[in-house]
Amino acid sequence: MKLASRMSRLGTETAFEALARAKGLEAQGRSIIFLGIGEPDFDTPEHIVDAAKNALESGHTHYTPSPGITEVRQIIAAAMSSRLGYKAAASNVIVTPGGKPIMFFTILALVEEGDEVIYPNPGFPIYESMIRFAGGTPVPMRLHEERGYNPDVDELRSQVSPRTKLIIVNSPNNPCGSVIPEADLEAIAEMANEVDAVVLSDEIYKDFYFEGEHVSITKFPGMRDRTVVLDGLSKSYAMTGWRVGYGLFPHELVEPITRLVTNSVSCTAAFSQMAAAAAIEAPQLSVRSMVAEFKQRRDIIVQGLNEIPGITCPEPKGAFYAFPNITGTGLTSHEFEVRLLEEAGISALSGTSFGAFGEGFARFSFANSQENLREALRRMREWVSTL
Ligand code: PLP
Repeated sequence: MKLASRMSRLGTETAFEALARAKGLEAQGRSIIFLGIGEPDFDTPEHIVDAAKNALESGHTHYTPSPGITEVRQIIAAAMSSRLGYKAAASNVIVTPGGKPIMFFTILALVEEGDEVIYPNPGFPIYESMIRFAGGTPVPMRLHEERGYNPDVDELRSQVSPRTKLIIVNSPNNPCGSVIPEADLEAIAEMANEVDAVVLSDEIYKDFYFEGEHVSITKFPGMRDRTVVLDGLSKSYAMTGWRVGYGLFPHELVEPITRLVTNSVSCTAAFSQMAAAAAIEAPQLSVRSMVAEFKQRRDIIVQGLNEIPGITCPEPKGAFYAFPNITGTGLTSHEFEVRLLEEAGISALSGTSFGAFGEGFARFSFANSQENLREALRRMREWVSTL
């Protein structure tokens, strides 16, 4: 069968393949500690599950309008308004099955041949994949280890041009756990205004801060009308399998993105939308206690990694990933990932799963118990001593 040539440009997210490999080893009887996939290990809070049950029982089992149930969009808009500090209209909110479709649809709607898209590297792999798929030219915004995995604004300035159609920012960042300093966000906003670029601000980790609070790029002049804010329920409420995300779009993008939703998935599952509304409206106690637990785990893993010869790990400021430099082990990132799984029974990801600038690094998701993290660190220390 001859695939369309565009398929050769579509990448992937290797986290899912790595998970399958690790599960395969586990099925053969090996003890595996899972620090690969980026999903909270907590159960979805009970009040959210109850809301979904009620929704199913009360008939939320049909198609909904493509951009989402009106009341759900209103609830999301109200929460976004109070978080972002300005009035976000419900008519600008589009609900999708997870946060990923927001980037998929935004890039498809905006990018074509000749367009350049600046995106974080290391960064979420779907950005680069989708830019190439849409025919655009990916321009990596390098996140430098020595800057706490943040971009060099001067370097960025040299990359921005009238061909820049879209700039993607992700703070807190996956895979680095870094948070873009406010002054740098402001500089990026100025550049976007200068060249009339749209900004896709991926704020899916906005609740995962170990110090300070989230700042959105929409705060800066001229940004509300040129920024797509990507957010969702997957991480904050441990709802990865429910598939609910949403975007806040500038007016001109609402109709085209809605058309993409209608052409692809029609709408997001009705009962998932109702559960999402309940999650957003209830007191946010479960989010706070989850983040407090993640903070303790961060301290354990960062300290433990730094005690292993050949590995150095800065402290992530947000999200739930540690991104150590592993060059001192003498292994490439890929060798590190493969051998760590096979020889030490730990599933983690190579830094290059997140782009070429991830070479020399590995990503550990600390979405696992403190006990398992300690055991992983013990195994890793022993394994590294055999290299
Ligand atoms: N954005 C980033 C940076 C992510 O890490 C993820 C998930 O790993 C997503 C978006 C998409 O999340 P989902 O589609 O599961 O809501």
